[in-house]
Amino acid sequence: MTDPAPDPTPNSVFVPGTASPADDLTQAWWDAATERRLTVETCAACGNRQHPPRGVCTACSSTEHLGQADVAGTGTIDSFTVVHRAPRADLEVPYVLARVRLGEGPVLLTRLVGGLEWRIGQPVTVAWADLPDGRALPYFTRIPDSQT
Ligand SMILES: [Zn+2]
Repeated sequence: MTDPAPDPTPNSVFVPGTASPADDLTQAWWDAATERRLTVETCAACGNRQHPPRGVCTACSSTEHLGQADVAGTGTIDSFTVVHRAPRADLEVPYVLARVRLGEGPVLLTRLVGGLEWRIGQPVTVAWADLPDGRALPYFTRIPDSQT
């Protein structure tokens, strides 16, 4: 049995439907995502990085020193599961839901695209799927030359 080939057109297997609208806490994150920049909330008072945006630093409780800062967009698989039964009729199965720990520390709940075979600790990199409303949603895929 051969390994599944990476999907040459990843958006063809991950076309997100709708996503929650931006609110006061998430607007800056969505603005960056729309420009295909992955960011995490960063505290200028203590240096803590967190995701999703919370409006309060989980390390020092500051509410005044928070902003979104760009991250590299690479990380490792912290955990994942293959979903075979769609929770909604418009979702195509199977798909892979994962926690990805960014190199900068925070964890994102996201999709893995490019087959169903993954391993904990595997390096992955961000890619972007277009949302119908013009925003973009990050997902993660294999790093070329890091197929192990
Ligand atoms: Zn802080």
